[in-house]
Amino acid sequence: MGKKVVLALGGNAILQPGQAGEFDIQQANVVASSKSIAHVVNAGHDVVIVHGNGPQVGQILRQNELAQSEVPVQPLPACSAESQGYIGYMMQEALKNVLPNKQVATVLTMTEVDPNDEAFSHPTKPIGSFFTEEESNLLVKEKGWVMGEDAGRGYRRLVASPEPKAIVEVDVIKMMMSHGFLVISTGGGGIPVVRDAFGQLSGVAAVIDKDSSALRLSKDVDADVLMILTDVSNVYINYGQPNQESLTELSVEKAQSYYDAGHFSDGSMGPKMAACIDFAKQGKTAIICSLNDALEALEGRAGTRVVG
Ligand code: ADP
Ligand code: MG
Repeated sequence: MGKKVVLALGGNAILQPGQAGEFDIQQANVVASSKSIAHVVNAGHDVVIVHGNGPQVGQILRQNELAQSEVPVQPLPACSAESQGYIGYMMQEALKNVLPNKQVATVLTMTEVDPNDEAFSHPTKPIGSFFTEEESNLLVKEKGWVMGEDAGRGYRRLVASPEPKAIVEVDVIKMMMSHGFLVISTGGGGIPVVRDAFGQLSGVAAVIDKDSSALRLSKDVDADVLMILTDVSNVYINYGQPNQESLTELSVEKAQSYYDAGHFSDGSMGPKMAACIDFAKQGKTAIICSLNDALEALEGRAGTRVVG
């Protein structure tokens, strides 16, 4: 029986550490990722793809900063939309080449966040260029940016990472899925927007965690399985230590106890496990595995499964 699967692809599906971001390199990564996705689709599952965009949106922002004497700087939500657009294009091309009979489409997706989300009062996510302390002080004064020191490398703009409240285009995504379309959506967690008292949407400078948005989407489309594809074959306890232990299948309670004990790092495995635990609580299965093992993991032969 085909399952409804939300496949969330990590950054390495598009750009790997150490790669500069040349288009053909990104395209080659996407082609490889698409083959893995095609195995899942060809096995009869209904798939909706979510992807990260961290390096891509960072580079678009940098291009804007470098060219600002000639071309007006575009705000972060516009940069995010640009990245969804070109990553979507690369994926559509690659997927269409391996699945010629499938209708494939990217939905530029906005994700609504709460303007009162407490994340806005203490931004934590560094984005864009590095500045000196003097430049940083000037940007705080002139642009009202929040700046912070980033791991001894200089000062960077900090933006909030609020919780996703709703996927604005969710009904479009559902409608396309119901017609058998292979949909790419919610790239980079979605373009962050807030709704005012009159119901009007507007983009905000923020970065939404793609794993949290994938969870939101998987609940909203009533997915059977949430799959987070990353660059490790399994989740580990005591990760990186001599006594590290790979996890294959675990209950929500067990996963929560390891989470509480701090086995999953903030900003990498932490949000993935948090999303899996939340999803599995519905009595469903959430999976974390490597990109190449997608179908095997879905069939219970690879990866780490959190079972509700
Ligand atoms: P993605 O780009 O796919 O979102 P991340 O780099 O954010 O990937 O998260 C995957 C990384 O999480 C792995 O490469 C690994 O270094 C790290 N990680 C942290 N804690 C764990 C853990 N307990 N088990 C496995 N990987 C972990
Ligand atoms: Mg990453």
